[in-house]
Amino acid sequence: RAKRRGKRNYARYSPDMDRDSRRRTSRIAALRRAIEREELSLVYQPELHLTQGRIHSVEALLRWNSTDHGTVPPGEFIPLAEETGLIIPLGEWVLDQACRTLVAWRAAGADPALKMAVNISAVQLLRSDLPDTVARILQRHALPPGVLELELIESVLMSHAEQALRRLHVFRELGVSIAVDDFGTGYSSLSYLHRLPIDTLKIDKTFIDGVAAPDDHDDATITSTIIAMARTLGLATVAEGVETPAQLAFLQRHGCDIAQGFHISRPLPGDDCQHFLETAPARAGHWLDPAP
Ligand code: C2E
Ligand code: MG
Ligand code: MG
Ligand code: MG
Repeated sequence: RAKRRGKRNYARYSPDMDRDSRRRTSRIAALRRAIEREELSLVYQPELHLTQGRIHSVEALLRWNSTDHGTVPPGEFIPLAEETGLIIPLGEWVLDQACRTLVAWRAAGADPALKMAVNISAVQLLRSDLPDTVARILQRHALPPGVLELELIESVLMSHAEQALRRLHVFRELGVSIAVDDFGTGYSSLSYLHRLPIDTLKIDKTFIDGVAAPDDHDDATITSTIIAMARTLGLATVAEGVETPAQLAFLQRHGCDIAQGFHISRPLPGDDCQHFLETAPARAGHWLDPAP
């Protein structure tokens, strides 16, 4: 989109430009009021532990159903929220809501070890008050910090290394764990990441897509190499976007710790996810190969 706009700047005035920017302005205004209008919700996607056969964690994913704009995908409204700074109140809302949900599930008998993973954008991480905000929300809900996992994308760890590192150390002290999201799409090396206080690598879906494709040996090699190196460095691995039994079998065979994707479950509304968690133990055998 940025490119398209850039090119258009050289072109003569077009009515499309007007329409695009009006739509953008009106979406920003709507997003500004989304919390109070109760247009936001979270869905939760389970992550399966491949050797323990249990649901290890659940990732909270934000949804916006706008009265004025309909359902806007995160890929569109998250960048808007980041550009405008609205991601700060939205991100706090997400953390609070995700913790609230986890407390409800725990009260209803969920595994006390179940983790809640929350996506944190670069804009949030660069604010010096993020650790305080996180600590305050955990306290509000009386949750042990160990059940919270923050997902960061690797680019922020590279481009703002010092600030990011400071924040990561505070989280480590607090007991909150850190995952690097979409790993492999940026330019960070494992040898660099290994010096950071992080716990988990989430291998990007683009690699997982190809692991069981007969003509794509690169993705399989990259994925198995990431898994092996992560293990050497003491980092856990999560495969993102697992859609087929063949992909799951590959991951199990190569020692990936955790899998997330439509093959296990789509992101679910809170109540449906709670039901999923309650019935998952009976289904673990259906996903996992007993003799990998
Ligand atoms: P992400 O954190 O990498 O989340 C994974 C995305 O992959 C989600 O898309 C999920 O629905 C999708 N996905 C999971 N399994 C599969 C699969 O098997 N196949 C396919 N095709 N897709 C799968 P979603 O929910 O649209 O979110 C997109 C991105 O928006 C997220 O990527 C994350 O970067 C961002 N995002 C979502 N919620 C939040 C939030 O609360 N805060 C922030 N800062 N970012 C968020
Ligand atoms: Mg994520
Ligand atoms: Mg991801
Ligand atoms: Mg991704």
